[in-house]
Amino acid sequence: MPEKLPDFNKIVVAGAGTMGAGIAQVCAMAGYPTYLFDIAEERLRKARDTIRKNLDKGIEKKKVTPEEKNKALDNLSTLGKIKQVRGDLIIEAIVEDLALKQELLSGIESNNSDQAIIATNTSSIPVTQIAAGLARPDRFIGIHFFNPAHIMKLVEIISGVETDQAVLSSIGSFVKSIGKVPVYVKDSPGFIVNRVARHYYLESLKLAEEQVAGIENIDDLLEASGFRMGPFRLMDLIGIDTNYAVTESMYKAFNHEPRFRPSRLQFQKMIAGHHGRKSGRGFYRY
Ligand code: NAD
Repeated sequence: MPEKLPDFNKIVVAGAGTMGAGIAQVCAMAGYPTYLFDIAEERLRKARDTIRKNLDKGIEKKKVTPEEKNKALDNLSTLGKIKQVRGDLIIEAIVEDLALKQELLSGIESNNSDQAIIATNTSSIPVTQIAAGLARPDRFIGIHFFNPAHIMKLVEIISGVETDQAVLSSIGSFVKSIGKVPVYVKDSPGFIVNRVARHYYLESLKLAEEQVAGIENIDDLLEASGFRMGPFRLMDLIGIDTNYAVTESMYKAFNHEPRFRPSRLQFQKMIAGHHGRKSGRGFYRY
């Protein structure tokens, strides 16, 4: 396990959904005292269960020892009130919504010292745009983990226009300390991976809308041609509500360029509450 950085003695992950749980797991496994915060108590319970299951799976696969599992769980606590969100590093991983993120982050900022680093796990919203609502945009940065966060190695690190160089370098070391590989990118809607991957989802959704093939066939063909996961299985893993919100945000950020136009089929799934694995039903049933 990599060395723990001495200057982050408390990490808070705000948002205990698909991403927040995985991010908290890797921080706790690396030895950081980690606190998971959510407004929904039931999400905190679910996140703890998910983390425990992930660790048990790691033991089965001989990638985690029982001691490491216990240490990770000992390092992990949950918080239910925003007033308790105090740390050296706070990583926001709530829903992909600019107004909600800014509201939460302003509250967090006013509750923490000037020296705290505040980060966002946004998939698509420019970091500079989120930072514009903050008093200390120099202490703010993007740390974009990929799903599942406890498995995927690469992490995009995004500096906003005002991000301090010292914050960037500290976050680079932090990402390495949790066993991940940092990739530094300039601030731009969707950064690198989501900008390119958007067309993987959108073109596949068009194929399904035009009934060129069924979703299972599209998934199977793309997997057979070398993609690790078919687009519909991947959207179910990501969360259809999250994936839709990301497309919407990028469509807006790219001034309604038609190539980023959100899909009606995906919209319908989203409003029906078929959000993928996390809700038990998406393009597939679980
Ligand atoms: P999710 O819907 O699974 O979880 C969001 C969580 O945020 C929920 O538990 C919800 O209760 C909580 N929440 C909402 N408002 C809150 C508030 N004001 N304060 C505290 N908690 C609040 O979402 P997710 O898929 O984990 O996505 C979270 C962020 O990570 C988004 O910005 C998303 O774009 C990004 N992201 C997602 C993926 C993915 O594959 N799902 C990958 C990389 C990045």
